[in-house]
Amino acid sequence: MKNTEILTIDQEGIDDLIRIMKERGDEDDVVLIQLAYDYAVEAHGEQRRKSGNLYVVHPLATAIELARLGMDVETVAAGLLHDVPEDTEKTLEDIAEEFGEEIGFLVEGITKLGQLKYRGMERYVDNLRRMFMAMAQDARVIVIKFADRINNLRTLDSLPENKRRRIALESLEIFAPIANRLGMGEFKGRLEDLSFPHVYPEEYRWLTEQVLPKIEVKQEFIEQFDEWLNIELSTRKLEFIDIHSRKKHIYSLYQKLVRHNRDVSKIYDIVAVRIIMPNVAKCYEALGIVHEICKPLKGRIKDYISQPKPNGYQSLHTTVFSPRHLVDDESRGEIVEIQIRTPEMHEEAEFGIAAHWQYDVEKIEDVDHKVEWMQQIVDMQENSSDMNQVLESLKIDIFQNRIYVFTPRGDVIELPENATPVDFAYRIHSDVGHKCSGAKVNEQIVSLDTKLHSGDVIEVFTDPHRKGPSSDWLEFVKTNTARGHIREYVNRKNRDFVKGTDL
Ligand code: MN
Repeated sequence: MKNTEILTIDQEGIDDLIRIMKERGDEDDVVLIQLAYDYAVEAHGEQRRKSGNLYVVHPLATAIELARLGMDVETVAAGLLHDVPEDTEKTLEDIAEEFGEEIGFLVEGITKLGQLKYRGMERYVDNLRRMFMAMAQDARVIVIKFADRINNLRTLDSLPENKRRRIALESLEIFAPIANRLGMGEFKGRLEDLSFPHVYPEEYRWLTEQVLPKIEVKQEFIEQFDEWLNIELSTRKLEFIDIHSRKKHIYSLYQKLVRHNRDVSKIYDIVAVRIIMPNVAKCYEALGIVHEICKPLKGRIKDYISQPKPNGYQSLHTTVFSPRHLVDDESRGEIVEIQIRTPEMHEEAEFGIAAHWQYDVEKIEDVDHKVEWMQQIVDMQENSSDMNQVLESLKIDIFQNRIYVFTPRGDVIELPENATPVDFAYRIHSDVGHKCSGAKVNEQIVSLDTKLHSGDVIEVFTDPHRKGPSSDWLEFVKTNTARGHIREYVNRKNRDFVKGTDL
């Protein structure tokens, strides 16, 4: 996570960007990008980021990200200009005048989107609503926002601890689930992996020290397996486009490990093998051959081609035993997950909605079904109770074992699932817990055993005359902190009582 090099000018960056645009072969695009870059350089002037880098290095990195993704020239230019209205003298009108309405519109979308901040439920929902509105108007705004965020996450180290954690948490909870819903697996994975070390530093350390070395070993084995599979498929005259392996993103690996009692041997897709086939029929043919040469595990064959995941993901998945001669210990085969898909499915899985705005204009008609989904969300959120459902569905992946609630001042408190106001109170301070006499959740008075949900705003009342916690609380508290404090208090009271009667 080192990023200490201070850049005063990023010649390499702009050269890189110009080269990518040149490769596309449209001279006008190259000129436009150079103009947008010069404009951003002039507007940001001597502004610097916390890292010491010249400010313009950030929009440039954002634009390079977008260009690599193959986004159209307007999106790349908007990436270069995205912080100009917010941080410089130049206005949105200036940009629209200089670069036309389309680029002006994209920059406006990002500026309006602002930053999502945790300031209580209302603001949180409000911000999400803004994000969805922007998406429904033009999903390219969201793609720029993701590229912007990825670059910000890369340079988090120069920020103070609390700010760093907030940005990382927000990326993990809001940005990554949205990327997932839009089928942008690659963005989702990167947002999560960049946030993970800042949000859960100890868990991250555990993973890198204890788990990743084991994966290296698996990786080596998979390379052999790839080679073998390559030969086997070729001798059977099956024409595949590509066979490659991919390592699971570390945060999703972490989540899966938590679900499987941290037992690495239970995770079969740490490294998965991908077979890219020219069309759907060939995908099924490849699956047949794979099962002929490797014994499949029962119940692990998934046909996401005929039944895509809700976010549109398509592939055939199977988990097989590798042939014994590839394994050192010949008593058993290694277990390998294989994913079979077409190039279109592959692109869709990696880039989702962004895949539709790529430079290749022929794809544009596929956009409709995705936009439809976003439109549904916009329609839904007119009604705020439905909006909560949207929030719920967004949070499903992330919030399996943890919830995040807010103090009235908007601080985020992390608790286990089904935690109560008493857990919350002890998390604030042991005295707040001991003297806790009542609570409000989202402005409503509730009983102390109420189960809290992510996004709730909690206010705890204390009674200075209260002697201490009730032993009944032990029946419903979920955190060890609360249980520990309550037990300690109750035991001490009993001891004092016993002592008192003895004397
Ligand atoms: Mn930015």
